[in-house]
Amino acid sequence: MAALDVTWAVKWLTLSAQAMAEHRSYLIELDRAIGDSDHGENMDRGFQAVLDKLSESPPGTPGAALKLTAMTLMSKVGGAAGPLYGTAFLRAATSLGESAEIDPAALANALAAARDGIVARGKAEPGDKTMVDAWTPAAEAAQKAAVDGDVLAVLVAAAEAAEAGAVATDPLVARKGRASYLGERSAGHRDPGAASSALILRAAVGAAA
Ligand code: ADP
Ligand code: MG
Repeated sequence: MAALDVTWAVKWLTLSAQAMAEHRSYLIELDRAIGDSDHGENMDRGFQAVLDKLSESPPGTPGAALKLTAMTLMSKVGGAAGPLYGTAFLRAATSLGESAEIDPAALANALAAARDGIVARGKAEPGDKTMVDAWTPAAEAAQKAAVDGDVLAVLVAAAEAAEAGAVATDPLVARKGRASYLGERSAGHRDPGAASSALILRAAVGAAA
């Protein structure tokens, strides 16, 4: 596959909404262990609102689809995750600009912009047991894959790295967000935001396959 377009973007967001609905209880359970149990509900509500917006005002470009997603998540998702995901999608949208098509380099740059947005907003570093632990390896794997891979290869690399990154949060002690209040007791549990990030990046593969 040479490039991704707005049809892919809308399908990605649709599959993300499906994943948030399907894994709502899983994300709630993860957040129950080290947070306040609302992550699955927050993400499901936010992405259902994204679906409503997408059908109300169909976007003309991938960037427009991601910008609409950013605005919706910022206004509909409470807690830490809303502004963090909102910033991620907004930075990715800005990175894509008004292009109709996304090539491998543009895709990798958009993923790096999303990661940078999360870091700018939440000030977490890799190893702090947050969604940054999914997005950082994802963005790095995407950059590597974009050197000689097509867009599908870039998406697969990002999703696999995010999944491994989410699993790797299990033994970590949280240093940012609500889970950090637990100190050492946060170890032994997967970070909910890293888990939802991996699901969203896996949905991006499904939309291109
Ligand atoms: P809240 O913690 O306000 O209840 P959510 O449960 O929706 O919000 O989201 C929690 C997730 O947000 C965490 O699992 C973590 O991945 C992410 N998170 C929290 N604080 C930060 C931060 N400072 N930087 C990056 N991600 C963070
Ligand atoms: Mg929570």
